[in-house]
Amino acid sequence: MSNSGTAEVLIPRSLCLIEDFDDLNIDAEDLCSISITWKDGFVSELNPLKNKVTKPENILFPRFVETHSHFDKSFTWSDFPNLEANYEGALSVNLKEHKTRNTDKVLERVQKSLQLALKNGYRAIRSHIDTYKSQPTDLWIELFELQKKFSSELTLQFVALAPLEFWSSSNGEDLAKIFSSKGGILGGVIVPPFSKKDTSKFLSNMLLLASKYKLEIDLHIDESIIEPGAGIKVLLETIENLNIDSIPITCSHLSSLISLSYREIFNLGEKMAEKNIKVIALPLTNFWLLNRDNKITSLKRPVAPIKQLQKSHVDVSLGSDNVQDPWYPFGNFDPFYMLSCSIPMLQLNPWDRMTLSSIFLAPSRLLKLKWDGLIRKGCPADFVILDAKRWADVFSSNLKRKVFIKGELYN
Ligand SMILES: [Zn+2]
Repeated sequence: MSNSGTAEVLIPRSLCLIEDFDDLNIDAEDLCSISITWKDGFVSELNPLKNKVTKPENILFPRFVETHSHFDKSFTWSDFPNLEANYEGALSVNLKEHKTRNTDKVLERVQKSLQLALKNGYRAIRSHIDTYKSQPTDLWIELFELQKKFSSELTLQFVALAPLEFWSSSNGEDLAKIFSSKGGILGGVIVPPFSKKDTSKFLSNMLLLASKYKLEIDLHIDESIIEPGAGIKVLLETIENLNIDSIPITCSHLSSLISLSYREIFNLGEKMAEKNIKVIALPLTNFWLLNRDNKITSLKRPVAPIKQLQKSHVDVSLGSDNVQDPWYPFGNFDPFYMLSCSIPMLQLNPWDRMTLSSIFLAPSRLLKLKWDGLIRKGCPADFVILDAKRWADVFSSNLKRKVFIKGELYN
């Protein structure tokens, strides 16, 4: 198989770093006509196409980064449907599924998810894995084996999604020790209503544990419609009291923030930016699960206020969350499915730099990937090339794509 090639393509201007700035041929939707060549798995030439008459018939993107998924429960919907489709229903069906769960079942789901993700164009994925005291210890060993097995094609990160108090137990400490050599992330849930005192105590212990073993934290936080911002406020207060700044923290969801005033969001955003807290907006699950009333149609949907947070310099990424499980019945580990739903519902213009940042650049920073996702000379030839000439082709059906991994066409 060859790992070299050449193509005439369109690339969104803000995803393309090109030396020859003169005479760039850019259309009204900010797509740039480019000739790209790659050799031995890396981009060797990147030049503007001067011909304004013939437009390339392909759009090139860097391979995608999924910031938030749940491999351990993917594709369980058919056996464990949550037909009420609300948060409480998801939680109770999830618990039923847990009773039948074993290491082999989880590994099967992870492998299926990974194969789809690779085929659909992802280069890195962070997945949460439900974690509890009675869990068999072999699961983590097997998961880190899979991480190694897939490492030439895809970067895989695991978050142990546990009850907050787990990180105050000896099991929590043992797992943190394992993570300090394998690179896992500490996870938890802060969703109101909660006891502020207990939450603050367990959160302190979790932060101290992360600091002790130099680990990151990724929290499901404020995924609710009540007590807007209650979780993030406790988190900020706890960090302030402990006076530790060096732990990388990601806040997944933060959907209730949308109910705060613009000024309150901006102030919270500034504090988060100061602490370098990153945010993942997860519109699909939030819009599907939260604020449901089967008697009326309400369009009041909570989701992290992406544009407001970006204005306060918070690094915001988009993520997909669940795939065909009690929390969300659809999806297929396909970035174009997620974007086709999210882009119009969130009023994010795909031709805007900040939108593309939340899809490609912020996720690369969040996962601390070696490559930031900008197409430039010397970057990996890791692309998704679509049969498309305009954004309408990208977010419509019958998408034809070719995925290149290190310059080689992936089948
Ligand atoms: Zn999640």
